[in-house]
Amino acid sequence: MSSNTRRCSSCGRDAQFVYTAEFRVGGTSGGIKLLIGEWGELGEKMIPMYVFVCPNCGKVELYATEDLRQRAASVANSRQP
Ligand SMILES: [Zn+2]
Repeated sequence: MSSNTRRCSSCGRDAQFVYTAEFRVGGTSGGIKLLIGEWGELGEKMIPMYVFVCPNCGKVELYATEDLRQRAASVANSRQP
């Protein structure tokens, strides 16, 4: 990741990187499954995501790591007709 700030989607100020969170997916039907779809069916594992918090309005946003972005790209490509 090139920067520790991202533009807040709510107020437009700089949201600050806080930490990398690990989300447990698979096995149980967690809310994360809504974000990653069938990846949740691959078995229980931990998926890291960057957590950004806007100090101005308090909005919390998650960003995929580079590895997760590449997986998303491969899933998107496999769904093309
Ligand atoms: Zn904000």
